[in-house]
Amino acid sequence: MRMYDLIYKKRQGEKLTAEEIHFFISGYVTGEIPDYQASAFLMACFLKGLDKKETYFLTMDMLNSGDKMDLSSLKGIKVDKHSTGGVGDKTTLTLAPLLASFGLLVAKMSGRGLGHTGGTIDKLEAIPGFTTELSEEAFLKQVGEVGLALISQTKNLVPADKLLYALRDVTATVDHPSLIASSIMSKKLAADSDYILLDVKVGSGAFLKSLDEALHLAKIMVSIGEQAGKSTRAIISSMDEPLGFSVGNSLEVEEAIEVLKGNGPQDLIELTLVLSSQLLIMTGAYKTLDEAYDASKEHLVDGSAYKKFLELIKAQGGTSLQFEKPLFEREVLAEASGFIKGFDTQGIGESAAILGAGRSTKNEPIDLTAGIYLPHKIGSFVEKGELLAKLFTSRSGVFEEAEKHLLASLEFSATKPQDHKLVRALVYEEDGQSKVQMWN
Ligand code: URA
Repeated sequence: MRMYDLIYKKRQGEKLTAEEIHFFISGYVTGEIPDYQASAFLMACFLKGLDKKETYFLTMDMLNSGDKMDLSSLKGIKVDKHSTGGVGDKTTLTLAPLLASFGLLVAKMSGRGLGHTGGTIDKLEAIPGFTTELSEEAFLKQVGEVGLALISQTKNLVPADKLLYALRDVTATVDHPSLIASSIMSKKLAADSDYILLDVKVGSGAFLKSLDEALHLAKIMVSIGEQAGKSTRAIISSMDEPLGFSVGNSLEVEEAIEVLKGNGPQDLIELTLVLSSQLLIMTGAYKTLDEAYDASKEHLVDGSAYKKFLELIKAQGGTSLQFEKPLFEREVLAEASGFIKGFDTQGIGESAAILGAGRSTKNEPIDLTAGIYLPHKIGSFVEKGELLAKLFTSRSGVFEEAEKHLLASLEFSATKPQDHKLVRALVYEEDGQSKVQMWN
């Protein structure tokens, strides 16, 4: 087999066999296939597409390129959720302890933020003393004892994805549904949970801007999960505005704690409850969605979820929930009265990154104190002179650019805009067929 022939075949729009895809992944990981051929191949895949079968083969070969977590020694139901990436999305921090409070096992590996989207591992590192690196043995022991553990992906987990993602990043081939799906699902399958719930983000702060694109991605990912024998569903949720009021690492952990204490912003509570109730239904813990939703709400209000969160913090070395404070803060006031019509949510994420909350290259350090407090939502009326946003940073000389970027990311109108929907749809499979249920 020659790589040249595979590039040519895909360029002509033909379907690749399992053997051909295996040849590509194994050859690329061992370094036998050079970057220039892998780049050309990725571009051919991007332009001509991969069907369900090809995407599944690609995912399984990526999955088998490195180490896999083995959760079989844990007695209990193992659940996982994954967000495709957003701004202000701290749902893992609220959802994981909530699920653990129901006795489900959450053995979760997360990633860091890149570009305008945040990552759970960066957020967790804002907690003094908290370690996100545990040996596999310690990780499994903790999940067995506490019911949850949150760590960064182990070094040799899906090496094919690390290599391919870096290449896609510089060859304009990131935002293709089959490539995104295989990248995400290879890591989810390597984490070895029995039930996988995907939170596919759609809107101005997401990779995918339209509902159709998000549904398409969700169907591919659900199909991969199901073909691999895992019960998999996807919720499509809006990223047309940041989730909650806070963007930035310490700020987001503080906001998640508010939700775990039964308070916090309505949208973050709602998404947490929707995801929790969906997983509780998938695992058979409850019969109806309403029962599962109400029980999840109860666990936020009565402190059960917060108790699990405190156990998690203690188990992973956290010493305090007092966060380092930013050296500087600036208030941004509204220059005129009006309704918030919409956000360029990616722009908000970029503004937070300018303050230091995110990074533009993989190894750039971040300022855990940096971020934005944005108390308004689509449809909110803001009076002239009212607080529009608060910017936080410990870096000097970044306010001007961040504020400019933030203001350019807000759209106002004189009339009240249409209601904005947070949860858009549920995607699942029945008898091997994709089903979509639009959310009311
Ligand atoms: N997240 C991933 O892990 N991979 C992608 O390709 C896109 C988002």
